[in-house]
Amino acid sequence: MKTLDAVVPVYNEEAILPELNRRLVDTLEALPYEWRVVYVDDGSRDRTPELLAGFSDEDSRVGVVHLSRNFGQQLAISAGLAMSTADAVVLLDGDLQDPPEVIPLLVEKWESGYDVVYAVKRDRKEALPKRALFSLFYKILRKLSNVDIPADAGNFSLMDRSVVDVINTMPERDRYVSGLRAYVGGRQTGVEFERAPRYAGQPRQSPLKLVRMATDAFFAFSELPLRLATILGFFVSVIAFLVLLTVLYKRLISGEAIVGWASTMTSILFLGGIQLIAVGVIGEYIGRIYNEAKGRPAWVVGRYRNLSSGSSESLKALHEGRDPT
Ligand code: UDP
Ligand code: MG
Repeated sequence: MKTLDAVVPVYNEEAILPELNRRLVDTLEALPYEWRVVYVDDGSRDRTPELLAGFSDEDSRVGVVHLSRNFGQQLAISAGLAMSTADAVVLLDGDLQDPPEVIPLLVEKWESGYDVVYAVKRDRKEALPKRALFSLFYKILRKLSNVDIPADAGNFSLMDRSVVDVINTMPERDRYVSGLRAYVGGRQTGVEFERAPRYAGQPRQSPLKLVRMATDAFFAFSELPLRLATILGFFVSVIAFLVLLTVLYKRLISGEAIVGWASTMTSILFLGGIQLIAVGVIGEYIGRIYNEAKGRPAWVVGRYRNLSSGSSESLKALHEGRDPT
C-alpha cells in the first residue's frame, strides 16, 4: 500500500488542535493509504505540546517533532519534511485555513502522475491591506525570480517523495519552501481551493515574520537586486557625462561662470543615496552568505514522539549538526 504523510507546523495553536486533528485524521482515514501525521511544534508556549503528546499517545500514526524553541514557520516545515518517509507528503497550515478536506483533490492529481500539486487560494480571507501586499509580493517575486514560482500558492501542497528528497538535501538555512518546491521542477500543477478564515486566534506569523519571509524569498531566488547596482551605476555615469559636457561648453565656449551650491549639494546627496542603496543590497547578500557560512544547524529538535524509527537518520543528523556517517 502507498504511504502518505501530512506535515503540519504549529505554534501556539491550542485552540485549534483538537478540531484540526479530528478533521485531518478523518480525511486521511478515508484515503486508501497507510498514513502518518507529522506535527512540528515550533517552540509553542501554550498547551500545544501537551495536546500533541496526547494525540501521539492515542495513535501511533501521529508523530511529533518538538523544536527546542521557535524557529519560524519555514524551518518548522523543513524539520517536518526531513522526518517524512512516505511516498507522498502533504503540507498544510495548522490553523485550518488549509482545509484537510481538500487533500483528496491533491491526491487525485498525484495519482494521475504529477510530482507536485499545489493548492491555489481562490480568494484570500484576509483584510484588504494584507491581501494587496500579498498580491504585490507575488508580482515582484515572479518578476525577479529566475524560477517560475506560482502566485497564490503557499505551503498547502502535495509533494512526491522524489521532490521531498531533493528539498531535504538542499543545505540552505534561509528556506522559502514554496520557492524550493518550484525550483525542483518536474510535473507541477495547481488545484484551486477556497481558503478558510483562521479557525481561532490571531495569525502567528507576525507582520515582521512575513516581511522577513518575503525578503528571504526575494534574495534567495534572484540576483537582480545585485545587478540593480550596476544598472544604477551606468545610469548615473551617463548623467555625469552629460553634465560634464554642458559645464565644459559653458565654461569654454559661452564663457558663463556656473554658480551653484544647490546643484553641488543635490548631486552629492543623489550619489550618496545611490551608493548607500547599493551597499545595502550587497549587505543583504553578504549577511545571507555569512549565515550559511556559519553552518549552524537550521533548527534544533528537543524531542520526537512516534518518530524515532523509520525516519531518515542521516538527514536528522545533518540537520542537528552531527556528522551523518
Ligand atoms: N507557525 C509556526 N511558526 C511560527 C509562526 C507560525 O509554525 O513562528 C505556524 C502556525 O501555527 C500555523 C502556520 O504556521 O499553523 C501558519 O501560520 P499563520 O496562520 O500565522 O500564517 P498566515 O495564515 O498568516 O500565513
Ligand atoms: Mg493562517
